[in-house]
Formats: sequence, C-alpha cells, structure tokens
Amino acid sequence: MNSYDVAIIGSGPGGYVAAIRCAQLGLKTAIIEKYSTLGGTCLNVGCIPSKALLDSSHHYEDAVKHFEEHGIDIPGDIKVNLKQMIARKQSVVDQTTGGIDFLMKKNNIDVFQGLGSFKDETHIIISGEKETEIEAKNTIIATGSKPSSLPFISIDKERVITSTEALKLKEIPKHLIVIGGGVIGLELGQVYKRLGAEVSVIEYMDRIIPTMDSGLSKELNKVLKKQKFKINISHKVKSVERKGDEVIVKADNKKGEEVEFKGDYCLVSVGRRPYTDGLNAEAAGVKLNDKGQIEVNEHLQTSVKNIYAIGDVIKGAMLAHKAEEEGVFVAETIAGQKPHIDYNLIPGVVYTWPEVAAVGQTEEQLKEAGIEYKVGQFPMRALGRSRASMDLDGFVKILADKTTDEILGFHMVGARAADLIAEAVVAMEYRASAEDISRMSHAHPTFAEAIKEAALAATDDRALHV
Ligand code: FAD
Ligand code: NAD
Repeated sequence: MNSYDVAIIGSGPGGYVAAIRCAQLGLKTAIIEKYSTLGGTCLNVGCIPSKALLDSSHHYEDAVKHFEEHGIDIPGDIKVNLKQMIARKQSVVDQTTGGIDFLMKKNNIDVFQGLGSFKDETHIIISGEKETEIEAKNTIIATGSKPSSLPFISIDKERVITSTEALKLKEIPKHLIVIGGGVIGLELGQVYKRLGAEVSVIEYMDRIIPTMDSGLSKELNKVLKKQKFKINISHKVKSVERKGDEVIVKADNKKGEEVEFKGDYCLVSVGRRPYTDGLNAEAAGVKLNDKGQIEVNEHLQTSVKNIYAIGDVIKGAMLAHKAEEEGVFVAETIAGQKPHIDYNLIPGVVYTWPEVAAVGQTEEQLKEAGIEYKVGQFPMRALGRSRASMDLDGFVKILADKTTDEILGFHMVGARAADLIAEAVVAMEYRASAEDISRMSHAHPTFAEAIKEAALAATDDRALHV
C-alpha cells in the first residue's frame, strides 16, 4: 500500500494548490479526483468557462453596438456562432486543466482518479477503474461544492438548469428566467443577454448582489436596466413548472401579489452547497455542521487532528482564491510553519461589464459595528481613459476611518475593476490611509486614476477632476 505525508481529496483550486505547496515543502503528496480532469468546479464548470463566455459575448456585443462608432464597418450581418463559442470555451478549459496535469507531474505529486472515501482516519479507499487503498499521515479535504436549489424545483438539466448546463447550451434562449440575482445569475445572464436573449432576474432580497455594499447593488442595477435586463427584486419564487419547451415560474412580489414569468429556459442560481457525498467522513470521525459544511478550527483542522478541510466545503466565501489561500495555509501548517490568512482582505469580484469589485468592510457592516467612517467617491465618467474607451459607468468608493484615515473598504463598479481591486488589497494589507494613496502617482490615462481621485475625495474632499 502506498503511504503519503499528505493526501488531498479533490483537485479544485483549493486541492491542487495545496498539493503543489505540500510538494514544495518536501512532503510526499497524493491528490485524488473523482472526475477524469483536474481543476474542480473552477476550471471545468466555473470561473474559467464562465469568463471565456463572458469574453466572447463581450466581443460580439462590441461588434454589434460599438464598432460603428469607433469607425469600424463590417459588411453584412454580424452573427453569433454559438457552437464555435462553446467549442472555444471548451478548448480554454482543456488547456487549463491540462496545465494542472503538468503541474502535478512537475511537482512529483501522485494523481489518483476515483472517488476518495475514508476507511478510517489514516486510510482512504479510492474507487476508480479499480479499487486502491492508500495511507496518509495527514489528509486535506477539498471536495468543494455543487449547485443548490429550492425544494420545489426539479432541475431537469434541459430547460430548468444550473450554471453547469448554462455553460454549454445548444441554442440562445429567447427568454432566460434567472432565479437568484447573485454572481452566477448576473454573469451568465449577461452572457445570454448580449447574445440576444431576453433576461428576467428574480431576486428574493430587496437588491441584487445583496452581500456586497448597497452602493454597488444600486449602480449595477442601474447599468443592467440600461442594458434591458428585467430585474425583479423582493420576489419570492413559489413554483417552477416545465410544459414542453416552456418554463413557467410563479413568484409573490413585495405586495404579496402573484406574478408569472414564462420563458424557454430557467437558470437556478440561488447559491451552492458544500459537497461531501461519498466521502464517508464519519468513518474517520470528521464532523459536519448543520449547513453540511465540514467543521474546522482556526488552523482549518477538522474534529480529527490530522485531517484538515479547505475551500467551498468549509465556512466562508465560496471563491477560488479563498480556497487557494487556505490550501497554502494548511500545507504550511502541516510543515510546521505558522501561516496567516486575513479573510477581511479576500476580494470579491463580479465579472459583468462593468465589473464589480470590493474588499474590506461595506458601509452596512461599518454602521452595524458602530465605526465612524468617511466616504470618498469618484465617478468613472470623469476619467479621460473612460471616455477614450466609452466605458463611462461606475465609480470607486473608499471608506476610511473618520479619525485615523485608515482605509477600511474599497468598493467599485467599472471597466477592469476586477484588476483594479489588486491595488486596494495591497493598500489595505499595508494598512494604508486614504491620504497615502492620494499621494501616490497613478499613470495617466488609466482607470486606476479613479482610485487616486477617490482617495483624494476621502482625504479632504480634494478630488481634482470633478
Ligand atoms: P471545487 O473547485 O469544487 O473542487 C472540488 C473537487 O473535488 C471537484 O473536482 C470534485 O469532483 C472533487 N471531489 C469531491 N468529492 C470527491 C471525492 N470524494 N473524491 C474525489 N474527488 C472528489 N470563484 C472565483 O473566485 N472567481 C470566479 O470567477 C468564479 N466563477 C465561478 C463561476 C461559476 C459558474 C461557478 C459555479 C463557480 C465560480 N466560482 C468562482 C467559485 C469557484 O469555482 C469555487 O469557489 C472554487 O472552485 C472552490 O474550490 P474548491 O477547491 O474548494 O472546490
Ligand atoms: P450567490 O449567493 O452569489 O447568489 C444567490 C442569489 O440568490 C442571492 O442574491 C440570493 O439572495 C438569491 N436567492 C436565494 N434564494 C432565493 C429564492 N428562493 N428566490 C430568489 N432568489 C433567491 O450564489 P450563486 O450566484 O449561485 O453563486 C454560488 C457561489 O459561487 C457564490 O458563493 C459565489 O461566490 C461563487 N461564484 C463566484 C463568482 C465570482 O467570484 N465572480 C462567480 C460565480 C460564482
């Protein structure tokens, strides 16, 4: 029987990054994945394919709506070739997952394909083409998550679908009904909106992206309405019924009146659930909490001291980069180091266009904590760079401590916000004040100038270009 210092169950961004860091630290490492490709949700049916489709659909929209103004005339009709778009997405996925195979080989990590189940706290049975048993001094559970649904919805994967099916549709929906105005609903909703579908979003809460700062929800709502999204907030979905090629969704609006939506596809994007099916966690004595997550302490150690858990299967934001940080954290912990993760500094991004990005505390959180803060906000449309590319929507908002000027939160909507947020993370990691940022040179013309201007606004209402 093969014996390892560390066995990792699940090869998503949490698992494969943990494996690489363990190998770098000289630990004999194995990784177990039940699917035939490595990379987990993120690489196969999550981050990477969704961004590939967002990019393709963005090009199409630019060609149809903006090329003429830029002085680019294309003779004849511009058409979508959905089959090619989906094929290109798949080739991006294949190249990326293939890259993980390479990284595993390069780092001498043994890859086992099959379902990993605990036999006891140091033995794992892998059921693949044949059954194998391995021994591990330490195990990292990185089994991720799956789409969740509502009890009365039957996901048929044809017309009532999750994100996984929405990434490989064979036709552009005429009317896509999206249940849940969170990240998946809005990103994939925007893909099909750009390709010509009517998109109706039904959100239970009183705003879209409800966990982010309310200023971001308001701005994104405004922009999406301009793009002709139909957004229905404060709607409680009661039933989803398929009749032939039609899907009928019934919901109660804020006044309690029944509203009916009829479409040809319905995307259910109401969150994801931790995934532990087949893991046989109880055989090792690993405890789950009432949300089905694996319970961990501050060292990400489960109820069994040589078994750790990371990523979507434990508490916290379900984000690839959060899973990656935890993978490195656990590898270094096993190697005897004392790593640290500041969860307040894990950024969140929505890859709609304009993009939405944030790090740190929201205004709502600061109010609730009774922390006095000041706000510096700068509109994207005031930048020369924004006018040059016609990306005028959005703003950068900085929240800083009223007394010390330390930055407590960055919130932005705008072109390339997903990349701009890196400056915000660096600033907060080094505990910058708003004035620190306001005194740093930002190249002109860039979208990043909005960060400097927002910092100037927060410092002493000194923004220069408004
Ligand atoms: P996963 O990536 O879910 O990987 C878990 C792996 O474990 C899977 O491959 C699974 O097959 C395997 N597994 C499970 N049980 C077993 C077992 N018993 N034996 C063997 N193998 C097992 N996050 C971002 O940060 N940015 C984004 O842009 C983004 N976009 C997304 C878009 C979509 C459509 C979706 C669905 C998600 C997106 N996410 C994004 C979220 C991101 O994909 C997850 O947060 C991330 O994949 C979690 O990583 P993980 O390693 O914890 O688990
Ligand atoms: P989410 O939590 O982002 O959004 C779900 C939305 O559904 C919320 O707004 C919620 O209020 C709403 N909702 C819940 N129950 C409802 C109901 N009964 N009726 C109507 N609306 C309801 O979840 P998601 O969009 O499904 O994404 C799942 C996870 O994947 C998220 O945790 C997210 O972090 C991750 N993800 C991240 C990215 C990214 O980082 N860009 C992209 C996609 C997914």
